[in-house]
Amino acid sequence: HATRTDDAIALAERSTAHNYHPLPVVVTEAEGAWVTDVEGRRYLDFLAAYSAVNFGHRNPEIVAAVKAQLDRVTLTSRAFHHDLLGPFARELADLAGKHLVLPMNTGAEAVETGLKVARKWGYEVKGVPADRATVIVAEGNFHGRTISVVSFSTDPVARTHFGPFTPGFEVVPYGDATAIADAIDETTVAVLVEPIQGESGVVVPPAGYLSQVRQLCDARQVLFVADEIQSGLGRTGTTFACEHEGVVPDLYLLGKALGGGVVPVSAVVGNRDVLGVIHPGEHGSTFGGNPLACAAGRAVVAMLSTGHWQRAAAELGEHLHSRLSELVGRGVVGVRGRGLWAGVDIDPALMTGREASEALIGEGILVKDTHGSTIRLAPPLVVTRDEIDLAVDALGRVLSAR
Ligand code: PLP
Repeated sequence: HATRTDDAIALAERSTAHNYHPLPVVVTEAEGAWVTDVEGRRYLDFLAAYSAVNFGHRNPEIVAAVKAQLDRVTLTSRAFHHDLLGPFARELADLAGKHLVLPMNTGAEAVETGLKVARKWGYEVKGVPADRATVIVAEGNFHGRTISVVSFSTDPVARTHFGPFTPGFEVVPYGDATAIADAIDETTVAVLVEPIQGESGVVVPPAGYLSQVRQLCDARQVLFVADEIQSGLGRTGTTFACEHEGVVPDLYLLGKALGGGVVPVSAVVGNRDVLGVIHPGEHGSTFGGNPLACAAGRAVVAMLSTGHWQRAAAELGEHLHSRLSELVGRGVVGVRGRGLWAGVDIDPALMTGREASEALIGEGILVKDTHGSTIRLAPPLVVTRDEIDLAVDALGRVLSAR
């Protein structure tokens, strides 16, 4: 007979487009690093909504800020001012060490915004001939799902039958600064990269890559646009993953955890000489920078400005990686990552990433596969050492059961 889980999944499948193939868990409640399903089973969440829940499910500070704002004002559109946009933008810009913030909602919108800003900067500041601007991107990238963004994806599943595509992008291998140097010409306005590629399987570029990209961009008058939507805001043990190489990009693209896992909040953060190219009427969003978003975003920025979360991610991340390294040779063929973020390559002879993720559900652990035999781990930063042990031990059991 069908369970409550089966019923809930069947109902959703009947009435939604099948653009996802979720793991068979139906969540009904969550707190901190734990979620509860419709049958009352509890799971340790080792995905954290792809890092959107960095501060834990229903983080009390964020929830309190949003609840308080619900009783004041939630939406004005940008036709009028509201009293939280200024404080949020100031505090976020300070956190990033930049002048200005352009608020949007989703990650893909922040990427689109960054691309528009880079093109406009290219024409108006660099002097690129009209409609010739190009942006250099990396193989294996994931920046979202809009038509322009999938135009430079290298994943056939993301692209097939979605053309015609937006021109003006050049794809080079990830982690290869020489390839970027060779690709830059007088039409190049920006290099757009993830400091660590998330969806690709938590791929950390070779040491020196980000600083070489920074040097190339400086030398050739090109903007360095860092997509920190998944890597940023504490996940890797620093506020931004670029910090691991002491690199400051021209534009930060932020999203996911910026809304505290409560509301969608994204932003492009940069200096006046770049973001200042956008004037009234040229770009916007009805919900971008709305009062509720700003309330959540301010709580997130306040939490990150203490350094506590970054330290927690660094310390717990060391424990996670040292425990995962014990599994190499025991069903695991490789582990990558930084801070509380890991891509784990399962021996493909044993099982796929999907099979590993399904088996871990039986152990009360939620993870998600990426391509083929890789699973990625990204617990909320509120996770404890004991909970990390619980998850890694469970992975060990699942792999040794085969
Ligand atoms: N950029 C990166 C690096 C991402 O990981 C993602 C989402 O996974 C996005 C952009 C797109 O964000 P969204 O799904 O909010 O549009």
